[in-house]
Amino acid sequence: MSYIGSQFQKLDFFNLSRQSLAVFIAENYDAPRYAADNIFKWIYRKGIYDFSLMTDLSQTLREKISESFYFGQREYLKREISADGTRKYLIKLGEEEYVEAVMIKQPARMTLCVSSQIGCGMGCSFCRTATMGLKRNLTTSEIIRQVLVVIDDAKHFNDMFTNIVFMGMGEPLHNLRNVAEAVAILTDNFAFSIAPRKITVSTVGLVPAIKKFGETVNANIAISLNATTDEIRSKIMPVNKSFPLEKLLHTLREFPVNKRRKITIEYVMLSGVNDTEDDLKRLPKLLHGIQVKVNLIPYNDNADLGFATPEREYVHYWREVLVNAGLDVTIRWSKGRDISAACGQLAYNRLNMPVKGGMPAEA
Ligand code: SAH
Repeated sequence: MSYIGSQFQKLDFFNLSRQSLAVFIAENYDAPRYAADNIFKWIYRKGIYDFSLMTDLSQTLREKISESFYFGQREYLKREISADGTRKYLIKLGEEEYVEAVMIKQPARMTLCVSSQIGCGMGCSFCRTATMGLKRNLTTSEIIRQVLVVIDDAKHFNDMFTNIVFMGMGEPLHNLRNVAEAVAILTDNFAFSIAPRKITVSTVGLVPAIKKFGETVNANIAISLNATTDEIRSKIMPVNKSFPLEKLLHTLREFPVNKRRKITIEYVMLSGVNDTEDDLKRLPKLLHGIQVKVNLIPYNDNADLGFATPEREYVHYWREVLVNAGLDVTIRWSKGRDISAACGQLAYNRLNMPVKGGMPAEA
């Protein structure tokens, strides 16, 4: 397929990894491979978004490339700052299309949480994003541009993220192709140069995609386990009917884990639903033989979803018991709850949309 000369079908540059760009310019312009390296350096390392200024490319190549590519917009529509320093960005993608990215403030580091879809089709009953349904997958560019927006804005705060998690809106492994391409750009030494161990992609447990991810993507994986029996898991996470616990855990046992890297097991604690004493006994047994670290997430309240948050002491008790069972355990205390930026709270609605003219609407 050739895109040359088509003024009306320009490609968004941020959709392509360096590898894909090299193939594109070789096929369409007969350009050498290193040209893709140079272009990447200009854009991602020097921030020069004008092909005509790329002096180490031939004049013809500069012209041809300018005809083929444009750069997707890199601005946010609305930024909210939590009392705890966490920042939430609302980014407009199209008519009635928005996503959110969250810069999470932690004591010694900052985590950037990006979205992979508009809405989500997985239907988890405790998650606000699920109530939107799935609108569509994000393109690679739309993922990369969340990162560019946040990097650009970070200069106003004199900070920067230390790691990136695909834990915003959407199910990343339901959009594996674009997520994989985005990870390739983020880890590329000619682009963002982020260490693969600093990137974590979280999934509800789509078994075939987990296998593919293990074979093709260089980043950590996190699994939203959230229950210890199929009965409860199927009730709160419909995906469990297709990929029940045994299948999921078997896949994790086979998952290629670099010795220093562990699979993260996320466990949202829903009081009285999945956090009983029996669950606490079963969890270490289920995880036996898999290299994991457990991340307990006390439920972040979504008013009308019908779940409750466990007591703080009870969450500590869970950690203690799991640690005594030999597991590596952390607790993810919520960040940015006051601006609905915490896990499972991302969903835009008409009330938090700015009105025409750019002034935020009163909620
Ligand atoms: N779809 C992927 C990526 C989203 S990650 C996944 O589910 O893994 C979002 C994390 O927040 C998941 O671990 C999810 O289980 C958790 N979560 C969802 N709703 C939550 C809520 N109300 N309180 C706390 N955690 C929640």
